[in-house]
Amino acid sequence: MAADMQNIKEGWFTETSPLWPGQATSFQIEEVLHHKKSKFQDVMVFKSKAYGNVLVLDGVVQCTERDEFAYQEMIAYLPLCSHPSPKKVLIIGGGDGGVLREVVKHPLVESVVQCEIDEDVINVSKKFLPGMATGFFSPKLTLHVGDGFEFMKQNQDAFDVIITDSSDPVGPAESLFKESYYQLMKTALRKGGIICSQGESLWLHLDLIKEMQTFSKTLFPVVDYAYSTIPSYPSGQIGFMLCSKNPETNFRVPLNELSQEERENMKLRYYNPEIHKASFVLPEFMRKVLSEA
Ligand code: SAM
Repeated sequence: MAADMQNIKEGWFTETSPLWPGQATSFQIEEVLHHKKSKFQDVMVFKSKAYGNVLVLDGVVQCTERDEFAYQEMIAYLPLCSHPSPKKVLIIGGGDGGVLREVVKHPLVESVVQCEIDEDVINVSKKFLPGMATGFFSPKLTLHVGDGFEFMKQNQDAFDVIITDSSDPVGPAESLFKESYYQLMKTALRKGGIICSQGESLWLHLDLIKEMQTFSKTLFPVVDYAYSTIPSYPSGQIGFMLCSKNPETNFRVPLNELSQEERENMKLRYYNPEIHKASFVLPEFMRKVLSEA
């Protein structure tokens, strides 16, 4: 449990973690809106000077109102636009509701199941992050509160797309980065199904990304990695691990292009077909490491 008021000094919240040793990000605080330990983690929301309301779990920033769309839209539309018919979607984690908000907007999505471990995160988001929590009111949604790893064991041949919007691989989300979880997701997918998981930072977690790519390749015929820029995450970017059961999938070119009119109706602010393609173009040092996997 990293988060305590010790992370706040002279009106600034500073995010430190052993996952990014030797560096930190600070946000100037206007007001702490909520701070309480749930059954699983330390939950805090503060109103920041520059990034709107900020959700922090165990001392780590999960999303800010200013830049959350750069993450939520990409983790949702990279897989949804790569599947010919993404009717049934499962979201694991995602307690702020932002990924759900995007998934239910997609015209081909008929139903969404979400399994989030911590009810307190959902309730706090409904109160302090209403722009993200809107998805929780969608008629397409069936919501479960429970552990995503355990929930995955109960599903076979059930979903077209599984999105894992998890916190970092320490604490309750640790199991969601393991090979056994990817094996369970494979079983829970229908024929031709696709997964997309929060894939950490290419500047900070290259070893973990390589390990995930290596075991994913033993399970799926197509595995790829994309990333988004987002100022409030450590090092300003975050990636996505994508795997498909369909050997014909090419993640790098969207199969279902959302037209400009659709994107405007859906009020998209980050995702478009060009950024979809560009997000798979990796810097040389990373390409090299991953090609050795
Ligand atoms: N976008 C964020 C990021 O990249 O840091 C993640 C945001 S979302 C709030 C992460 C959610 O995953 C949290 O609400 C947390 O409670 C949930 N979570 C963590 N471990 C989980 C598990 N084992 N099963 C289901 N949900 C889990």
